[in-house]
Amino acid sequence: MIGRREFLGGSVAAGFLGGGGGQSQRELQAGGTGSTSYTVEVTIERPQSGQPHKGKVLAAIQPHCDDVAIFAGGTVLKLINEGYRGVLIQMSNDSMAGRGSSIGDIVLKNERDTKEVARRMGITETYFFNYPNHYMDGWPILEMRARLVFLFRLLKVDTVLVYDPSSLYERDPDHYVTARAVEWAAAIAGFEWDYQEHFKAGLEPHPVRERYYFARGPELVNRVVDISPYMDQKVYVNMALVTQGPGGDNGARLRRKLASEGRELPLLGDTDETANREYTKTFALEYDRIRGQAHGLEYAEYFHYIPPDESDVPDYVRKHEVAT
Ligand SMILES: [Zn+2]
Repeated sequence: MIGRREFLGGSVAAGFLGGGGGQSQRELQAGGTGSTSYTVEVTIERPQSGQPHKGKVLAAIQPHCDDVAIFAGGTVLKLINEGYRGVLIQMSNDSMAGRGSSIGDIVLKNERDTKEVARRMGITETYFFNYPNHYMDGWPILEMRARLVFLFRLLKVDTVLVYDPSSLYERDPDHYVTARAVEWAAAIAGFEWDYQEHFKAGLEPHPVRERYYFARGPELVNRVVDISPYMDQKVYVNMALVTQGPGGDNGARLRRKLASEGRELPLLGDTDETANREYTKTFALEYDRIRGQAHGLEYAEYFHYIPPDESDVPDYVRKHEVAT
């Protein structure tokens, strides 16, 4: 569960990414002073034709059912359309957020929403880890990490997409515990000495090579993903979050409330479907428009992206080797 105004006031207003940018492919952003100064090269990731990611596996990992859909739903849709096979790992049981008659009822409704969100994003498998919502910091992170390493090896995950473990001022423990568990699991999944019993069971070390980190607060954004062609589908994804999401059926609810007071908002149209779609696109996901416009795009999502860690040695050998 997130608060919309909170993240709107986060990455954008924090000034880590300013306006401008236009059509340039890369931009430089700098800030801080003295030992805290930094320079970040920002890459605009645009839609690619064909299936350049065919054969690769993307794991989207979230504590709550709305996290990925809100912050990265367009990017997940884009990457899957460009060839990735997508899996979703849901860390918490989502028992503490949304409308329902009891805690158990809320868990069930959020579970159904999560499956529908995954389906609408084109994700083929969803795993529920079932940790207690709002209390994940009381659970051993080592266990989370071990379960994630197992799945990364089993599914041969190439790329993870999750909250930024280094973002600032994140106060929800489910968010930062998930991020930190994923961060190190993604590394040691490729090591040969960690959890050797996995290899007895037929698994092999498998390093995660790429990471897309999103945040609701300030982060060092170095990747702006152009999601313009996927925005309508992202809206549809977010409309599945009827229990707790900022989109869901809030448009229809607002339309009914206004009607009961003898008023109407033309934006919301004549049907519940139209009301939910327009409300989600205009209000619930308005930051996608703001972020896009800051870079000359229609809609965009922000990430701290970590590329594959390529060794320079093979390249150096190729250039400098001599026959003996
Ligand atoms: Zn959340």
